Amino acid sequence: MFDYLIVGAGFAGAVLAERLAKKSNKKVLIIDKRKHIGGNAYDYYNESGILIHKYGPHIFHTNSPKVFAYLSEFTLWRPYEHKVLASVRNKLLPIPINLNTVNGLYGHNFDSAQLAAYFDQIKEPIETIRTSEDVVLSQVGRDLYETFFRGYTRKQWGMDPSELDKMVTSRIPTRIDCDDRYFTDTFQYMPLHGYTRMFENMLDHPNIHIALNTSYTEIKKYVGFKNLIFTGPVDEYFDYCYGHLPYRSLQFVHKTVDQAQFQSVAVVNYPNDQDYTRITEYKHLTGQEHAKTSITYEYPSWNGDPYYPVPKPENAALYQQYKLLTETLPNVHFVGRLGTYRYYNMDQVVAQALTLYDKLSGKKSVNEVLDPQTVKRHVPSPGVYSPNAIPAAPES
Ligand SMILES: Cc1cc2nc3c(=O)[nH]c(=O)nc-3n(C[C@H](O)[C@H](O)[C@H](O)COP(=O)(O)OP(=O)(O)OC[C@H]3O[C@@H](n4cnc5c(N)ncnc54)[C@H](O)[C@@H]3O)c2cc1C
Repeated sequence: MFDYLIVGAGFAGAVLAERLAKKSNKKVLIIDKRKHIGGNAYDYYNESGILIHKYGPHIFHTNSPKVFAYLSEFTLWRPYEHKVLASVRNKLLPIPINLNTVNGLYGHNFDSAQLAAYFDQIKEPIETIRTSEDVVLSQVGRDLYETFFRGYTRKQWGMDPSELDKMVTSRIPTRIDCDDRYFTDTFQYMPLHGYTRMFENMLDHPNIHIALNTSYTEIKKYVGFKNLIFTGPVDEYFDYCYGHLPYRSLQFVHKTVDQAQFQSVAVVNYPNDQDYTRITEYKHLTGQEHAKTSITYEYPSWNGDPYYPVPKPENAALYQQYKLLTETLPNVHFVGRLGTYRYYNMDQVVAQALTLYDKLSGKKSVNEVLDPQTVKRHVPSPGVYSPNAIPAAPES
């Protein structure tokens, strides 16, 4: 008999398995219907020996000292600040929109003050910001909205920004300086040896048993457990009794090309002319040196694995119905992106799982302050790490 059955070996499941096994001495069985651990953050060495992310680029960034300190128990880090360019009107321009984006697009020579005044001129007055379109129009006006946002959002979400909740485009800032970092979080690092290695370290404990290629419906008949942690889709758990919660999916097309570099930054967005939304080149993220390079094209679709909960009021209302059902099951806990039907970044899922662990173990959640030595200990000085020293382990 296991103390806990944990469904899903992504961030939510792995954090809880690790804490319950190590800190509370619980016997844990963690399962995943996929053939690997790591959930959507899974990475692997492809047939050319290049480290790639199976489910698209995962860039770690957080403002939480607690989350960073926790994950630092299982990995060293590589400093990495994410940069994105957008391919528009035959130019590659920084996104989020900044001073260089506007100067580059229109051939202006604005300084920051002039750009602020320009935005004031072109932005559209919108009294109540409700949709993703409202957010952008009210900040940068129609031309920049149509050039950088409208087509991208239509492809990504399969609907117009005017139909989507404001949270989607609110995540992306507009800048009047030349800061071209995609994120501004305090901690911006990639796991030095990749995400999968980090997950292996988390799950390496005698109290943790792992079963891959195993779905919950299959195993629940055969395995005894006292408590259940479910990180799969909450509507699936309840047999879709109120209907399906909608998700947007992606098809990933991975390629390796016979050249050392494909593009100048990790991600290039294609807002307008192609069917794909973006191309990622992994060596920028991992720092790996290799004569070839691997890239991924992303094609949004309604078919495939559930990736993005669709942020619309009717979906939030449907989720609330399921949430009420979850509250009737005292020994079943729903956590993670699918379990709580919410777009969360990795660090938010780690924080959510740590909070659930505190609740399960009767501890009060505290926001620990990060000892500066933790950063020093876990970020090797440049040159210490040679990614190519890791043997290539092609995916089976
Ligand atoms: C394309 C893409 C890019 C992203 N980029 C970033 C990024 O750059 N930075 C960032 O912070 N976050 C990013 N994210 C978000 C990140 O992937 C999530 O925050 C994180 O993976 C969520 O972890 P999780 O454990 O909740 O879910 P998941 O990683 O989805 O893990 C859930 C696991 O449960 C398993 N499962 C589901 N149902 C069952 C069942 N019935 N039986 C058995 N197993 C089951 C699934 O197979 C899956 O492995 C991105 C997401 C996507 C899709």
